[in-house]
Amino acid sequence: YEAKRTAQQVVAYFPELGHRARELSEMSTRIEKALQDNEFELHLQPILSAFGGQLHGAEVLIRWPQKNGEFIPPNKLISVAEQTGLILPLSQWIVLNSFKQLKKLKAHGFYGFLHINLSPKDLESEEFYYFIEMLVELDPSVSKSIIFEITENAMMTNLNAARKMMSKLSKMGFKFSVDDFGTGFSSLVLLRELPIDQIKIDQSFIKNMLNEPAAYAIVESTIFLASRLNCNVVAEGIEEKKVEQALIKLNCDYVQGFFYSKALSIDCFRKRYLR
Ligand code: C2E
Ligand code: MG
Ligand code: MG
Ligand code: MG
Repeated sequence: YEAKRTAQQVVAYFPELGHRARELSEMSTRIEKALQDNEFELHLQPILSAFGGQLHGAEVLIRWPQKNGEFIPPNKLISVAEQTGLILPLSQWIVLNSFKQLKKLKAHGFYGFLHINLSPKDLESEEFYYFIEMLVELDPSVSKSIIFEITENAMMTNLNAARKMMSKLSKMGFKFSVDDFGTGFSSLVLLRELPIDQIKIDQSFIKNMLNEPAAYAIVESTIFLASRLNCNVVAEGIEEKKVEQALIKLNCDYVQGFFYSKALSIDCFRKRYLR
């Protein structure tokens, strides 16, 4: 009762807050229902070898189709899920279904990595860990084909939790990629303290590298740093041939971007890249 009264007072003083709270709670009800009704889809964006263009893997990107034929942007979906405690069931749904799809893709000749994005809350959750442990017990071969992508900021939110979760999962054979590298805080401490296998250079650097000397210098140095740390590098957000050429010159390992393909439904991905 007290909490409700306080909420009413807050809403009375800050009407725009009330609006936001209502929007959040409406969205969260819809997300819960969408989980029950299996409304979400996983799409795949190819990740290719920079030199040679062979398929190296694919990033799993969630899509929430609406009746009007549009998608709710994943950034929005994930952010609401994070604010309403639904991120855990959502992440579990994503992991479970990515593992299932991996099996099917392998049957069609896929031997690359599936990249799965994780949220900061996932790293702090024992329940999430036990969920993954259970899935690995059911199919121990899965872990060696999975790279978890975690942003710098997510790792920094709770460095201790990240360290514990990542070391347990890497012992099981999972690999880790630092997503949106360069946009967070204190990225270098992560590279010293966490079991990182891959660095994904943020799109903002890639998009501007040919017209902004600072962006170019950061891309060049990141590729050098990664090689010194025995990490491989993915450049994301490539939209032009000349950016690809520049990245090949710098010895970037892998490339991802609209220049090659946007995220595709699993059927399209299979038709285009597999047998
Ligand atoms: P991200 O993990 O950095 O994913 C890359 C985003 O960049 C994707 O957007 C992708 O479609 C987009 N992208 C790829 N290449 C290009 C390009 O050449 N140009 C441009 N303009 N964009 C490109 P998307 O699918 O909208 O996802 C946005 C963010 O939402 C992701 O950023 C990730 O942080 C989050 N997200 C998406 N799916 C999931 C998921 O399954 N779980 C979690 N936790 N987060 C997800
Ligand atoms: Mg990602
Ligand atoms: Mg990214
Ligand atoms: Mg991003």
